[in-house]
Amino acid sequence: MRLTKDKATKVPIWVKFFNVPFEYWDSDGLSHIASVVGIPLFMDQLTEKGSRVSFARVCVEVEATSTLPLMFKVSCEEEDVVVKVEYQGLPPKCEHCMVFGHDTTKCVKTEVAALIKIQKETENNPDPGWETIKAKGKRKVGDSNMPTVSESHVEPEEDVLQNLEVG
Ligand SMILES: [Zn+2]
Repeated sequence: MRLTKDKATKVPIWVKFFNVPFEYWDSDGLSHIASVVGIPLFMDQLTEKGSRVSFARVCVEVEATSTLPLMFKVSCEEEDVVVKVEYQGLPPKCEHCMVFGHDTTKCVKTEVAALIKIQKETENNPDPGWETIKAKGKRKVGDSNMPTVSESHVEPEEDVLQNLEVG
């Protein structure tokens, strides 16, 4: 249940639209206005009756990926009108997961990403103590092996050259 809730990519919220031009005060016009922020579902009773004209309140399904404007312009007969928007009941949204249900700062994935970053930084700049032990071990192996290899290579070559000269 909780996982499903955390992964919500869209939620219905109340959106208040201020300064809506008179010609938009019908279901078609308000749907058009509400579609700027998301998918209009229904309007509240006072908006439907037109008995409150200070603002229109519409229930809109908004996507976590969409940016919610605080104002936008609508074209009227004579000039563009700026409609102001207010959101009610907007749940916390994570900019990292692009879902509703938890805040970006409280995101587990963000915390994990931070841990991975720390791990990578540690790998790039290893602890000096660890590096010293590693280097000593490598040098020992190289010192004992290298002379043995070169000696065994030189000897047979000399034998081959001598044999060729004789033959
Ligand atoms: Zn998240």
